[in-house]
Amino acid sequence: MIPALLPNYARIDLAFERGEGAYLFGTDGRRYLDFAAGIAVNALGHCHPHLVAELKAQIDKVWHVSNLYRNPLQEKLAARLVEATFADSVFFCNSGAEANEAGIKMVRRYQYDQGHPERYRMITVQGAFHGRTLATIAAGGQPKYLEGFGPATQGFDQVAWGNLNELRAAITPETAGIIVEPVQGEGGIRPAALQYLRDLRKIADEFGLLLMLDEIQSGVGRTGKLFAYQWAGIEPDVMAVAKGIGGGFPVGCTLANEKAAKGMVPGTHGTTFGGNPLAMAAANAVMDVLLQPGFLDGVDTVARDLWHKLLALQTRHPRVIAEVRGAGLMLGLKCIGTNTDLQTAARDQDLITVTAGDNVLRLLPPLIITTEHVDEAVAALDRACVAVTPATQ
Ligand SMILES: *Cc1c(COP(=O)(O)O)cnc(C)c1O
Repeated sequence: MIPALLPNYARIDLAFERGEGAYLFGTDGRRYLDFAAGIAVNALGHCHPHLVAELKAQIDKVWHVSNLYRNPLQEKLAARLVEATFADSVFFCNSGAEANEAGIKMVRRYQYDQGHPERYRMITVQGAFHGRTLATIAAGGQPKYLEGFGPATQGFDQVAWGNLNELRAAITPETAGIIVEPVQGEGGIRPAALQYLRDLRKIADEFGLLLMLDEIQSGVGRTGKLFAYQWAGIEPDVMAVAKGIGGGFPVGCTLANEKAAKGMVPGTHGTTFGGNPLAMAAANAVMDVLLQPGFLDGVDTVARDLWHKLLALQTRHPRVIAEVRGAGLMLGLKCIGTNTDLQTAARDQDLITVTAGDNVLRLLPPLIITTEHVDEAVAALDRACVAVTPATQ
């Protein structure tokens, strides 16, 4: 008989009753070091005192009003995102997939307003993940997510990751834009070469396309800058943000420059819940911490420490780890055995991680970790690697 809870996830048999900083406390009585952060969502760890205080204060004021009225907390967060990024305008929703949907609509609408309704197609790259709605599974192009859900939504042309020749060849008079993740997450922690991002910007300009970035996982401080595109010194036209921005509260944002945003006049798009006061209180609280002078430099420093210690770990366990890759605190261990075996072995050592595509084990710790957490995680991984090392013949 089907369980009451839809069985659409392969859930691990583990539940948590509370969290504190970088730690989660299981109903099994054990304390785990959380290097998954709810898939890069708990950017400031669990129960960060400032987030707790701000959200509790908002709970006593007002939870939801809809987007029929002005929303000062949305205006405040939008102004801060505009101040800190390429963007001129921001739309708020509730999830990553929705942020991408709004971005894709903006790109199509821009071309339409330019007098080119025939330009609606987006170029996407292999290994991408953009969400689970009908348009975003088509954008991601992964057969395992498309299978059984009818004809894929029209308008996405996929090319090889990092291949500019293929990308140029795929541009037609119907192409509206390009969408990429600066660091592929689900696909297996594959960072784009910075030059690739710069070249995508040039190609977009050359062909009158909009460049859209999916920074749902790579954004909000995860790579040591507020957004990963900032490492490349380029600016996108549209960018989707979610995961870390709410610190654990569901928040999505679509950022856009004026060119891309100006077609989104009243009536073109909307959401009931998007940007509600609770969500905005949480996201503004996250921004309070992220924008503190020195916070992102601290992320960069601890990330470099973790990176070097993971390289040393790989040297000690060449039969377990094939490669260490990623950027900032968005790191992946490409496994020689299965990533799930290493994940289980790490969990046996009280370390929580996430798997990704391409047989990679993802490390996505909260941005508040210290060098002590790094050492604890690497020690746990060391023991986990020993546990999964195949016996020599
Ligand atoms: C998680 C993720 C999404 C989807 O976000 P949801 O909130 O699950 O809809 C889209 N793109 C990227 C890069 C992601 O990591």
